Amino acid sequence: MAKFKKVVIPEGDKIVYKDGEIQVADNPIVLFIEGDGIGPDIWNATKTVLDGAVKKAYNGKKKIAWAEIYAGEKAVATYGKNQWLPAETVKAIEEYKVAIKGPLTTPVGGGIRSLNVALRQKLDLFACVRPVKYYPGTPSPVKKPGKLDIVLFRENTEDVYAGIEFKSGTKGADEVRAFINENYKHNIREKSGIGIKPISPFGTKRLVKMAIDYALSHNRKSVTLVHKGNIMKFTEGSFKDWGYEAAVKDYRDQVVTEDEVWEKHGGKVPEGKLLIKDRIADSMFQQILLRADEYDVVATPNLNGDYLSDAAAAQVGGLGIAPGANMSHEAALFEATHGTAPKYAGMDKVNPGSLILSGVMMLDHLGWKKATDLVEKAMKKTIRSKVVTYDFARQMTGAKEVKTSQFAKEIVKNMG
Ligand code: NAP
Repeated sequence: MAKFKKVVIPEGDKIVYKDGEIQVADNPIVLFIEGDGIGPDIWNATKTVLDGAVKKAYNGKKKIAWAEIYAGEKAVATYGKNQWLPAETVKAIEEYKVAIKGPLTTPVGGGIRSLNVALRQKLDLFACVRPVKYYPGTPSPVKKPGKLDIVLFRENTEDVYAGIEFKSGTKGADEVRAFINENYKHNIREKSGIGIKPISPFGTKRLVKMAIDYALSHNRKSVTLVHKGNIMKFTEGSFKDWGYEAAVKDYRDQVVTEDEVWEKHGGKVPEGKLLIKDRIADSMFQQILLRADEYDVVATPNLNGDYLSDAAAAQVGGLGIAPGANMSHEAALFEATHGTAPKYAGMDKVNPGSLILSGVMMLDHLGWKKATDLVEKAMKKTIRSKVVTYDFARQMTGAKEVKTSQFAKEIVKNMG
């Protein structure tokens, strides 16, 4: 067992993996990063709700043993100058597997692009998972927001986000341009900035397989591969091809492709089969608005997923309460998807919904379905009864505005 300088590990059981399956005892040790700005407010609210749900669901038989780890401003305060992401934070997540975090300030200067990106890279959290569904009562810009209920798996490590870029006018840009123009008969314009978009079979297949595993274990009906392969044939187009390849090779008995449905099954998905289909990215933005209920689990390369997850969250009015997680085969980091909103720090004012629903994803990951259901139902009830924080209250008529902590207590009260 690793020794830590500042992290205090409480009495409890380590979460482990056996044959690829997560093993969770009754008192699992789960790590948390409080976060900066509004982080402490929303974390306290989240802890109240998650502990309340677990206690109610299992009559005190199960209980999470929380262990604090540090990143962001609190890490600097705890470990010293420039210690925005201490090595033992990463080590603790590697060892204890499951963590939840509030938003973090992005340090200015000091060579760190973003703490979130650094965490994803160091832990190889290759999938960004975003469930998007409607909570009745939430102000939404569309007529039937309830039709959308998708879980988006976005590849996290490749694509134009791999960070291979050359600035206009630099030696690197000139050399890359000259190499491509001379050897591949292209005509990249002078002074172009250049970005490289790598998408690999390895990166694609592990992402698509995670999406399929999720769909199968959660009785979902389809997995849609979203790509722009009509234009970018050897990156986005290959993402589609490799995605189908993984589905057919590794899940042959459990899946059917859209082509097979038409060629062999008269246009009807055979009973009990998971449908694998694909859509071109621009069409997908129309589809989630016009035929939202035809989509279920969605797998995308990095950039498509970035755009699509925010568009989908906005459609259900949930940008401010959208949950998320970054995952590898073993480590999982659940997180609020908004920032630190520094002007509201310490005011007990903001909506803790994003972190609470990320906590719901975490309970689901632990296999604690009863507690998951309790939080979801109670949160729905609370929003429907219009007891909400300022951000929702300003868009609803007849709402009662409450503080962050009161909103959490109201959710626990509604678990009855
Ligand atoms: P932000 O913190 O997300 O805040 C922008 C606005 O969004 C807020 O002023 C507020 O709108 C609304 N908002 C955010 N969280 C809310 C909540 N829980 N409840 C209600 N409303 C909420 O974005 P930012 O101001 O661009 O970024 C601030 C800092 O956060 C930066 O350092 C940035 O790098 C960091 N950041 C961190 C993460 C992360 O750790 N995952 C993500 C994004 C940004 P109103 O003013 O209209 O009420």
